[in-house]
Amino acid sequence: MQVVKSVAEMQDICRKLRRGGEALGFVPTMGALHEGHLSLIRRARAECQVVAASIFVNPLQFAPGEDFAQYPRTFEEDCRQLDTEGVAVLFAPEAEEMYPSGAVTLVTVSGIGDRLDGASRPGHFTGVATVVAKLFHVVAPARAYFGQKDAAQLAVLRQMVQDLNFDLELVGCEIVRDRDGLALSSRNKYLSGKERDQALVLSRTLNQMKQSISSRERQSAALLQLGKDALNGTEGVRLDYLAIVDSRTLLPVPSAEKGVLVAVAAYVGRTRLIDNFLIA
Ligand code: AMP
Repeated sequence: MQVVKSVAEMQDICRKLRRGGEALGFVPTMGALHEGHLSLIRRARAECQVVAASIFVNPLQFAPGEDFAQYPRTFEEDCRQLDTEGVAVLFAPEAEEMYPSGAVTLVTVSGIGDRLDGASRPGHFTGVATVVAKLFHVVAPARAYFGQKDAAQLAVLRQMVQDLNFDLELVGCEIVRDRDGLALSSRNKYLSGKERDQALVLSRTLNQMKQSISSRERQSAALLQLGKDALNGTEGVRLDYLAIVDSRTLLPVPSAEKGVLVAVAAYVGRTRLIDNFLIA
């Protein structure tokens, strides 16, 4: 696997790959890789002739006081895993390479970018959209793979791809979970043993809501009450949001119908975790 630090070199390599007629798949990450990330790589490998990945802890998507400095960085181990998975080229720029002094252009996805995590973390999705737009320009993939785990991010990026006419397909991939249901996340590393147990309330609550929906409770208000009661009743857990929204616009919907997104964000101790499911 080639490891590339400069934009110019990455652009050059990707241009040559595309000229060779290869369908280029791309998996952007912030590193500290786990099976969730690897599932995206495997899907990309199955669907594309060549796969590029990136590791970049994007300072622009962290607000002051958030966990940018503590964010887990396991670069050597990540490289080993990506190499084993058959990734051809890894783009791992420094922050100065992505944002040289004098760079002032931002990508803001209005409205949708201020919903769910965008409401709790003002400016977060501008940071995400800006870096992903830049990465798309550098790599110019045929397909880019993102996890449904970050459902709001996926919705924001779908809107951006449509609005800015990126000539690529965004592929949303299923959430990978630990055996006990906890959605895999690089931030799970922050949890103590006790907090990890407490964190299970997120997936458990979503499952209860899913069961209620299967038992024909469709009213969002009733479902949200059920979920909030469970989440608020757990020691060590502070609810950020629980929402039932249109998965494309992220706007609340009164009734939990097929295709609707049920999403939760909560602090477990100091760690902010998210989880969700799409109604089948
Ligand atoms: P991150 O490194 O957290 O920015 O994540 C990089 C990509 O991996 C994003 O598209 C995430 O949605 C995806 N991802 C993270 N965790 C999971 C998971 N548990 N299952 C599936 N995809 C995931």
